[in-house]
Amino acid sequence: MDADGTRGRLEEERVRLQDLRTSFEQEGLSEESEDESLGELSHMVQHQADVGTETFNRERDLSILERVEAELGEVEHALHRLDDGTYGTCEACGQRIDDDRLQALPAARFCLKDQAVAEREARAAGERS
Ligand SMILES: [Zn+2]
Repeated sequence: MDADGTRGRLEEERVRLQDLRTSFEQEGLSEESEDESLGELSHMVQHQADVGTETFNRERDLSILERVEAELGEVEHALHRLDDGTYGTCEACGQRIDDDRLQALPAARFCLKDQAVAEREARAAGERS
């Protein structure tokens, strides 16, 4: 695996997410700058782009911001793991994560199997709250 290339990709992703977060903070949530933010975020909200009441938009903005912050946290976490040499191993079972998976998802923390477990647990936690 090309560690420098990975770091570069993660750092680019971090900059992109920080810019997104900054533009949200500057615009405030649910201003009429809808079209602009949709342009930047279209890859995240494509499937929702044609729906819209104001309440819905505000909730969507909040959830996008949450996702941006969550992704940013993942990317920063992955950069720390590059620094301490644990990058590329699963945090649950300690096995190497496939290079293919890291190519597709540089901030991956778990192998495929444990990712599925983590998502199931997250969903279950969501349903309880
Ligand atoms: Zn694992």
